[in-house]
Amino acid sequence: MDLKEFLKTNKLKEGQTITFDYCGNSIEGIIIPSKTDLNLKLNSGYNAGFKLNKIKNIKIMSENKNVGKAKTIQITKNPKLPTVTILHTGGTIASRIDYTTGGVYANFDTQDILTMFPELAKIANIESVFVSNMMSEDMSIDDFKKIAIVVSEQIKKETKGIIIGHGTDTLGYSAAALSFQLENCPIPILFVGSQRSSDRGSSDAGMNLICATEFVSKTNFKGIAVCMHNSTNDDDCAILIPTKVKKMHTSRRDAFKPINETPIALVNPKTKEIKWIKEKKEFEKTSGEFKLLNKFEKKVGLIKMHPLITEKEIEFYKKEKYLGLIIEGTGLGHTPIRENDSFIKTIKELIDSGCVVGMTSQCINGRVHPNVYTNLRKLSSIGVIYCEDMLSETALIKLSWLLGNYSKNETKEMLSKNLRGEITNFTKINTFEY
Ligand code: GLU
Repeated sequence: MDLKEFLKTNKLKEGQTITFDYCGNSIEGIIIPSKTDLNLKLNSGYNAGFKLNKIKNIKIMSENKNVGKAKTIQITKNPKLPTVTILHTGGTIASRIDYTTGGVYANFDTQDILTMFPELAKIANIESVFVSNMMSEDMSIDDFKKIAIVVSEQIKKETKGIIIGHGTDTLGYSAAALSFQLENCPIPILFVGSQRSSDRGSSDAGMNLICATEFVSKTNFKGIAVCMHNSTNDDDCAILIPTKVKKMHTSRRDAFKPINETPIALVNPKTKEIKWIKEKKEFEKTSGEFKLLNKFEKKVGLIKMHPLITEKEIEFYKKEKYLGLIIEGTGLGHTPIRENDSFIKTIKELIDSGCVVGMTSQCINGRVHPNVYTNLRKLSSIGVIYCEDMLSETALIKLSWLLGNYSKNETKEMLSKNLRGEITNFTKINTFEY
């Protein structure tokens, strides 16, 4: 049953407050627009998606009398300002509830955005493009490709820059995926999310969007980055390298931190000052023609090592004919050895079956090192590729992208080479500072 049918059968409408049982939990929230799963604005203010076949005992708690948009304000274009395009993919940043009317809307047209964030019109002429309305946990390779195609079309239209509104859960994966797909990107493209939706007093949506629009409008940055709160207060937003960013907190507004890296720049939403932390010139140049390389290999996995891991779990990837696997090892990049090297032998069999195996660390900070301990040397001698200080999430996306666009030998060669800032020469700072 699809969502439309599900709503019809259960006499449900967007804007209604409902309760239901879901995998043993009682859920309450307001139905917000979505395409596949049932999406609710929960009482906590968060949005969440629910699989239709697991929803039981639905009760309608209150009808929404006035579903609809808030009154829009009309803003005319200013010929002196640059044009900035906002793409909508979904997530908390894309939805809003008007608590005075109880109305829920997420139409994503330009007037909606300017009604919610009128300050943007003083910085740039905003255009908006709908890509999707989904929770980011549902994003997959096909969505990565779709975003890259829409972005390429917009680049041809000569927009000053692009802001991509995205759910925060998998924002780092999508930002890394776009960064690999667009070679020599000629304009600034910033991913922006929000941890708290725009109808809440503590929302970060407005400030993140304002800082992103400032940065896109006022700099000659070329490439992909992430723009999110830099701290728990409203002092500034950080512009972050997409292949080096990780969501480090479930709910804090400054959840996104650069790992083994510094931010590129900080943007002050009040003074409008842009403070460069990394060398500005490095981010204003490209090394050739803009190219879209948007193929990915789907049979690529990511597995974490831990004391309970078994050979059987590794064998799965061989049985299922996976072409790539990132092992998130312990410490410097360890897996167990087990009796008679049985664990190492299982990994070797996987590699011999044609799978490219990369190694990252679950330590988050620091880098993997194949030459320190005996079992590490054993792993590297059977062909495990050590991915330096690359994040596991980035390594997964990179391996999938490499296998989609290059031969197996080229993939093995390029996995441990820096292409988009994902590998640094040395570990710069310890960024884990909560
Ligand atoms: N989990 C959802 C997502 O990532 C909503 C939360 C958010 O946007 O941050 O899309």
